[in-house]
Amino acid sequence: MGKAIERLKGLTKDVVLLEHAIATLSWDQETYMPRLAIGEKGEQLALLQGILHEKITSSEIGKLLEDLGASDETPEGVFSDGNVVDSAYVREVFRQYKIQTRLPKKLVTELALAASHSQAAWIEARKESNFSLFKPHLEKILELTRQKAESIGYSETLYDALLDEFEPWISTREVLDIFNSIQPWLTEFIGKIGNLRKIDDSFLLKEYDISRQEAFGRRVLQDMGYGYDRGRLDISAHPFTTTLGRDDVRLTTRYQKEFFKTGLFGIIHECGHGLYELGFGENIKGNILASGTSLGIHESQSRTWENIIGRSMGFWKYYYPFLKEYFPENLKSVSMESFYRGINKVKPSLIRVEADEVTYNLHIILRFQLEQELISGSLSVGDLPEAWNLKTKDFLGILPENDSEGVLQDIHWSMGAFGYFPTYALGNLYGAQFSSAMEKDLNMDYILEKGELAEILFWLRKKYIATVLPDLQRSLLVILQEKN
Ligand code: ZN
Repeated sequence: MGKAIERLKGLTKDVVLLEHAIATLSWDQETYMPRLAIGEKGEQLALLQGILHEKITSSEIGKLLEDLGASDETPEGVFSDGNVVDSAYVREVFRQYKIQTRLPKKLVTELALAASHSQAAWIEARKESNFSLFKPHLEKILELTRQKAESIGYSETLYDALLDEFEPWISTREVLDIFNSIQPWLTEFIGKIGNLRKIDDSFLLKEYDISRQEAFGRRVLQDMGYGYDRGRLDISAHPFTTTLGRDDVRLTTRYQKEFFKTGLFGIIHECGHGLYELGFGENIKGNILASGTSLGIHESQSRTWENIIGRSMGFWKYYYPFLKEYFPENLKSVSMESFYRGINKVKPSLIRVEADEVTYNLHIILRFQLEQELISGSLSVGDLPEAWNLKTKDFLGILPENDSEGVLQDIHWSMGAFGYFPTYALGNLYGAQFSSAMEKDLNMDYILEKGELAEILFWLRKKYIATVLPDLQRSLLVILQEKN
């Protein structure tokens, strides 16, 4: 068995190397690539995705998994009650092998090519707020994504197959149960907050010099434990984090001159993702397990850093005096208390990534509903912008003035990432569970006021390694059922 598992690790190492090479090209496409380079870039990405598909579906991997006893009943194979790393390894390779062998190579490369062009079209469409530039691309992506879900197979709906890629072990129906239990409560709570005294956050809308925003953001990054010997920070249309190698995890953000929150909270959020990816132990670093348990767990890290830590009173007791040094003009007459209230103001807004913690999950439920309709075919791409606007009005009581602050704001659908959005709200809920446990173990106020962010990172890394995802998902369902 020792030989078989070592051989399997050797073969899947090539898979990881190829994934990182693909990530490098995708990172380039979203950061520095000249516009007209998209033609060949799409071909490069499709070629590599095809080779990756061949590697992961090779008959030798299939034979090794069989020799190691992996099956639907015992996905861990012979390691089911033994070595934790090896059993997780066999389970994960088996999972990926099973999914990928169901997908025809032609579909994989077609999807990669279409996604690359579609992302480029989305950037232009968003810039010009012109949905018609994006519409044919989205139609193509949607058609290919449906084929993908059909090929993978599903228990109840096509959407199950897609959701599984981002958040394994949970069904569409269970996500629906979770969202149905929080939506009415959120709507009522937002109504109550709306009737309270108005918070003045006008100081956040003054002119904030972008190079100073960046300098301050980099200072926080450093304190969080992110270093440039294993990463970079750049600018992109949509902030993201990507792993280009076992010691290369890069972040992007975007800045707005007249809205302070976008740049800094984007940086803290992405750094949460980055620290998670950089935190894998030597025993799994660089192999197929070092990619995060699920996107929900990923988001639990980024959203905890962004909201629970980055918007806390303790955090700003430490950082606000420094921030005032960077922006003395804008903040000289703003007290720490007013600043804290300003950055936590709850008010329905149009852009998801800038939404406050209370309204945020409604942005997710809106997307979750629309993408299920798109996948099932009950909503056409042509009718999508209007459906988006109607739902925004219904959920948040406001109407986008144009498509770039409406249906064109997110990159996900252009990449074919249907089933991704629910992981943000799940991440918020997992994050709340992590944070509640963290508060029992650590004196958070003391740590934050001293700016000792490394202690928080240390705790998170120790705990998420011990997290069993299906247990966390089931406990969430139980908690919410008991609450209702
Ligand atoms: Zn995120």
